[in-house]
Amino acid sequence: MPVQYLKGVGPARATTFARLGVETAGDLLEYFPRDWLFAPEPVKLNQIQPGDNVTILGLIESTDFNSYIRPPMFEAMIVDNTGICRLVWFHGAYLREKLKPGQALIATGKVTKYKHQLQITNPKFLLIKDEKEKPEQYFSGGVYPATSKLSSGQIKKILRPVLEKVDVLVGEFYEPEFLKELNLISRKDSFRWIHLPPDKESLKKAKRRLKFDEFFLMQLGLALRRYRVRNFTKAAPMRLTEKIDSRIRKRFPFLLTEDQSNVISQITTDMSKSKPMNRLLQGDVGAGKTVVALYAALLAVANKKQVAIMAPTEVLANQHFLSMERYLRNSDVRRTLITGGLTGRKRKTLLNKIKKRQIDILVGTVAILQKDIEFQNLGLIVIDEQHKFGVQQRAGLRSVTGGSLPHCLVMTATPIPRTLAMTAFGDLDVSIIRHLPPDRGKVVTRWVDKADRSKAYEFIRQRLKAKKQAYFVYPRIANIEDKSSVKAATEECKKLKDRVFNEFTVELLHGRMPSARKQQVMTKFRKGKIDILVSTVVIEVGVDVPNATIMIVEEADRFGLAQLHQLRGRIGRGSSKSYCFLFAETESQTAKNRLDIMTRSSDGFEIAEYDLRLRGPGELFSTRQHGLPDLKIANIVNDYDLMVMARKKAFELVEADPMLRKTTHLNIRRALLNKFGDSLGLADIA
Ligand code: ADP
Ligand code: MG
Repeated sequence: MPVQYLKGVGPARATTFARLGVETAGDLLEYFPRDWLFAPEPVKLNQIQPGDNVTILGLIESTDFNSYIRPPMFEAMIVDNTGICRLVWFHGAYLREKLKPGQALIATGKVTKYKHQLQITNPKFLLIKDEKEKPEQYFSGGVYPATSKLSSGQIKKILRPVLEKVDVLVGEFYEPEFLKELNLISRKDSFRWIHLPPDKESLKKAKRRLKFDEFFLMQLGLALRRYRVRNFTKAAPMRLTEKIDSRIRKRFPFLLTEDQSNVISQITTDMSKSKPMNRLLQGDVGAGKTVVALYAALLAVANKKQVAIMAPTEVLANQHFLSMERYLRNSDVRRTLITGGLTGRKRKTLLNKIKKRQIDILVGTVAILQKDIEFQNLGLIVIDEQHKFGVQQRAGLRSVTGGSLPHCLVMTATPIPRTLAMTAFGDLDVSIIRHLPPDRGKVVTRWVDKADRSKAYEFIRQRLKAKKQAYFVYPRIANIEDKSSVKAATEECKKLKDRVFNEFTVELLHGRMPSARKQQVMTKFRKGKIDILVSTVVIEVGVDVPNATIMIVEEADRFGLAQLHQLRGRIGRGSSKSYCFLFAETESQTAKNRLDIMTRSSDGFEIAEYDLRLRGPGELFSTRQHGLPDLKIANIVNDYDLMVMARKKAFELVEADPMLRKTTHLNIRRALLNKFGDSLGLADIA
């Protein structure tokens, strides 16, 4: 029923409601309070004592706003027929327009004594606007997000008759046994109590039930999406024999770690099916994902299929190609790198070879996506995203093949906190490499301030003399205007070269250099012909030079935690000890926290959790940002355990009834389509 037809709502109020996202009586039921009052009967003013938590009811006798003190303060004197009390709000400027002498008000808070006067500081309050209202109704219940045109009290009043009809309006989702097992209250009660909780315990139960439902519907949507991808699309199955396995493993000059082996068996199981793999491979920088990807690629090639490997930048694509070359020496696998620099006839020849399946593995950047590249037989795509998720690119690449889909392996070095893994990536399968390969040197991280800079330089000099190599990372390439005090790579490179480290080879690498020049510098560095590589964050992505054991990050306070962690991943790749120096002088507490965490932890997942705590869930983990609808009452971080439970149950339900056809699932299905139908693209179950 449209809200407009509810008592107390006409066209004008309906418009106001619409702005709050409330169009129907059902929406109104889901317009949850932002807070709840549990006040006892109001206490007479001559009865209150310092230290008491009380609710009082009285008239505003006078108000005053004092902006000369810090913080500015708003006060109101309240009287009833027995006494007087002072209410004080710090930063209360907004109350000047709201609280006026003569108004009746209810306030809750703790009584103190200040200069012989009883007072309540920062009380919660409600104005009693409608004289005919009985004040009791304000004593408890929800406080709603209000607007200037619609007060919390008015919303409450409009809601009341709707709440009385909850029995007819609200249908149950689950069987009684299910509710009992999960210790959930009925849906009817949850709506009743979220708006008018008889006590705190009931409110808690109501919240839990509503949060569960929200998670359940979201996870159900994800489960359905996954189910459809798995059951309504086809891919070429890849057979793995013992012979193929041992042939592939022989290519690696080391034993695979346990994590790598486990992940590989998950991947090969996926690929053995005639449904496309859709797997996300997570692993910290240097964890050894490339080897895993190459294994999958060689399996596809052994099955006479083509493979496309895509990296976000040319430097990284080149890097992938080179490290694969290391493993593929003397192999018959036909592989090639395609770069943006390849044009004209040469390019045409290559495209022709790809089309005729004379190329088995093609490595490149997004260039692979270009429409004129046609594969004869693409069986696997590997996307190394490092830490930028190109969902659209992913989609683009899939459409390249038409008909049956290639298996898809997405790799990322960004530890995805468990919360996001279960929502934004909730329909992918996830594999994790947690432990780095053995024989990795420790990475010592120090936060260095001005006073210790020369000491650090001296230390670095010693390491360089011992033939180790170093990265110097700056926040910028160059300062366009000299006004900026930010250290820029170009200028600092000159300084290092001419003065500080003039006995060593120092070279610059940055993103705006022509790509041929970039390759040249990287090759020299890889061969040990450059001692110090000065750069911006371009080296953030997949550079692998085990002999580089020193990293200096200038103005490290300007980098985010995730970024610092990625950067640091460039060192500690060989067996000797590595050193990361974070140069920073900062007054910012969050920057200090970040630097502190970096010196204490080297675990990407731990750092990601800290990052989440420092930044707060809002900014980083808005589900909407990832194409999922925002949740109204549940929170993926704080209510994680409940989400896990809901996810498990939702996936079970889809297993049992993939189209939600059973009559007992009717309410769930309707609610699901209502809430998530558009965003999760569930039109076909409608
Ligand atoms: P990632 O792609 O996850 O950042 P890489 O695959 O580039 O990591 O591996 C990092 C380094 O570790 C490479 O030099 C690689 O040769 C080495 N490596 C990978 N797996 C192993 C292993 N099982 N044992 C020893 N070294 C390994
Ligand atoms: Mg890598």
